[in-house]
Amino acid sequence: MSDPVQNTRTLPGAVLLDKDGTLLDDVPYNVDPDRMRLARGAAAALRELGGLGVPLVVVTNQPGVAHGYHAEADLLPVRERLGAIFAEHGATLAGFYYCPHHPQGKVPAYTRACLCRKPMPGLLLQAARALHFALGRSWMIGDILNDVEAGHRAGCGTVLVDCGNETEWELSPTRQAHYVVPTLDAAARIVAARMRTCGTVPAAAPAMQTVAP
Ligand SMILES: [Zn+2]
Repeated sequence: MSDPVQNTRTLPGAVLLDKDGTLLDDVPYNVDPDRMRLARGAAAALRELGGLGVPLVVVTNQPGVAHGYHAEADLLPVRERLGAIFAEHGATLAGFYYCPHHPQGKVPAYTRACLCRKPMPGLLLQAARALHFALGRSWMIGDILNDVEAGHRAGCGTVLVDCGNETEWELSPTRQAHYVVPTLDAAARIVAARMRTCGTVPAAAPAMQTVAP
């Protein structure tokens, strides 16, 4: 399998966004499209990022499938509603990647340790392969350190939207975000500026040492 990072020179970057608590107000295990609400700053963020012309991709842990709270198919209307929300704000949802697993689930088919549940980078790698973007020019934006770690592991730049959702702060070099901001619109402005100017992650990024092609 080819490594998308090797194509950094020719492929564009993407913006990878966590869903619950970052793009949307966190309603635990919600799959009701009518209860999906944009988080503070998210509308402005979508307008800003939508103007970049790079793929915007949602990467989200959905362990409610493994726990048996809802079916995997219930995520389809969620994806559709997200796409509509993006469009309402001048953006296009290029991809929706979710991890339905949990190590301590109840539904056998989804109960396991996997490589896609953040902080593992599997969702980001899947997205990069399918949508043909370079992880080394991409940014991961999320509200907890597991998002930051997934971004680092994938070789992306990382922004932590510190809106109070991270409560454990188990810090390590791979959990240190390149930027920490209070709201998603602030994250979007930083990412947009960086992608417009150089399109790459900061040279000091710890993850860059681990993703050399
Ligand atoms: Zn998984």
